[in-house]
Amino acid sequence: MSKPKSTVLKRFFPILCLIIALTGGTSVYAQYQREGDATIPLEYFYIERQHNGLRTLLSKVYFSFSTGYANTTFRHDLDGFGILQQADAAPLIFDGDNATVRYSNWTNDVTQYNDAVGPGAFSVNSDTAALGFRSNAFGIPLKLTAHIEFDRYRIGGGYSLDYTRVGEFEPTNFGDQVSSYSLERPGRFIKHYFGMIGATVYRYYEYTLVVDANIGGYSLGSDFAANLMNKSVYVNLGASVERQFSEYFRLFIRPSYEVKSYKLSIPETTQTLHHSVNALYVNVGFTWRLPELRRCFLKSCHAQINHAHGNREYRSRRHPIYKKQNPHYGENYPVLIKYKGKNKRKLNPY
Ligand SMILES: [Zn+2]
Repeated sequence: MSKPKSTVLKRFFPILCLIIALTGGTSVYAQYQREGDATIPLEYFYIERQHNGLRTLLSKVYFSFSTGYANTTFRHDLDGFGILQQADAAPLIFDGDNATVRYSNWTNDVTQYNDAVGPGAFSVNSDTAALGFRSNAFGIPLKLTAHIEFDRYRIGGGYSLDYTRVGEFEPTNFGDQVSSYSLERPGRFIKHYFGMIGATVYRYYEYTLVVDANIGGYSLGSDFAANLMNKSVYVNLGASVERQFSEYFRLFIRPSYEVKSYKLSIPETTQTLHHSVNALYVNVGFTWRLPELRRCFLKSCHAQINHAHGNREYRSRRHPIYKKQNPHYGENYPVLIKYKGKNKRKLNPY
């Protein structure tokens, strides 16, 4: 049983007067500078909450994983070269100035072809016509990025591994006389490693539009002769629509266009062949970051907001990571039962 309020006050009042008298009346109201100077320090009542520094630091990094569809277009012009087509054989190219120097595999490793050419072969030189080949490659990207965000901007980097099936290379001209050719190994993994910068440009409720650029290097596979290749930096420009589920979890779709190319030196000549390998991507994936606070460990704890047990702060157990929560109160059931299902049509659902 607690004592009536008046009795407590009566007891407390003389003590208060004594304190005022002893301290000279004015200093009792003075602010103390340090917690230790307080007559009754606050830490008697409140435990200072401890924070996990490493976790706070890690929680600043957003990780994204995505997959989807890629369409890569291999394309090259044969300026300075000619095409030689023998019956029932893959086409060859020859040096425009010297038709006896011939090559096969001029897409990836350039093989000299020294066999005799039979009669009746079709040949055309690029000084009389525009020559070239193109091929479409279907691919499935697996992409991983990590970035940090400040204000509306983001910066990071990543890695993408695209399983790609390179189709047949079709002639861009003389399709009736020149046959198509294909790589010895059409299936391959194209690797990308890149830096990334971007910015959020538009927000509509939980949707955001983000434009970003991936800039880096790439590799087309081990059958592309590295010693003959001079690769460009690649640039991938994309716009993604993100759906925010909570501050820790988003889903996104990112269409993008990628520009890249390489020059292949042709041995025994001073010439190079310029191949462009541009690509169109549509990536679908999710972004996740580690919550600053650990999830509450108490199975029976129903707290719906960030809260403390002892000197540690915890995230509510009641909120899955994909649900947004107002930091001041739980938002677990934003739609009331009276607005759900068949209750919507009832005049008096309760
Ligand atoms: Zn709890």
